[in-house]
Amino acid sequence: MSRHIIENLQTIHSRISNACEKSNRDISEVRLLLATKTVDSDKILFALEQGENLIGENKVQELTQKCTAIAQMNPEVHFIGHLQSNKIKEVLKWVTCIQSIDRYELAEKLYQRLKFEKKEIDIYVQVNTSYEESKFGVAPENALDLIKKVSKFNNIHIKGLMTIGLFSSEPEKVRKCFKLLKSIQEEATALQLPNVDLKELSMGMSGDLEIAIQEGATIIRVGTAIFGERIYPDSYYWNEGK
Ligand SMILES: *Cc1c(COP(=O)(O)O)cnc(C)c1O
Repeated sequence: MSRHIIENLQTIHSRISNACEKSNRDISEVRLLLATKTVDSDKILFALEQGENLIGENKVQELTQKCTAIAQMNPEVHFIGHLQSNKIKEVLKWVTCIQSIDRYELAEKLYQRLKFEKKEIDIYVQVNTSYEESKFGVAPENALDLIKKVSKFNNIHIKGLMTIGLFSSEPEKVRKCFKLLKSIQEEATALQLPNVDLKELSMGMSGDLEIAIQEGATIIRVGTAIFGERIYPDSYYWNEGK
């Protein structure tokens, strides 16, 4: 098991560096986030011991369990799954960034809770760039409006955008999703809103990270290519409540 994780991490890091080279980007501009849904704490600990320091969880129950188990390594933890507002309080115990803010009501509840706890947090706005029914995220045409509204909450710092690209064997269709996210970043940045500093583009996963890096990704989220296939289908994580 450990040998596989070491080899897989090496492969991912060389894929990242090749993609950076191809697109004339510095390797320090792209961070690897370990997407750890369904992965046991001991495997996550092992990956952290290899020098990784950023993980993302999709479900609150797994987040709580695993963060307790891996606390000794003190990784940076982001939330990347669909978030229900009644779970905000628990999520805030563990994460420094929520990458999946996709609706105003959720941001408003987050604002209230942060105010109560006298805390602040970084968030990314999740955009459904593939327009697939099965995926969460604000529709691209509504993204600017959501960013404007959320920017009024002074304890929420909007630091980036997140998307899941289209699952397709046609690279140009996947690329279109990433280009769309980049264009929303540029439009939103031009508005010069308070609390908005959209440096991060979280896009690209096991199958499409090269395309994402070419299109400007600053964080890629990789699960399968490091930890192997998951037993649950992704729909279990992505279609909740739909
Ligand atoms: C599972 C997941 C990933 C990682 O996907 P892989 O194809 O396993 O690399 C990335 N982002 C999100 C939001 C996920 O849920």
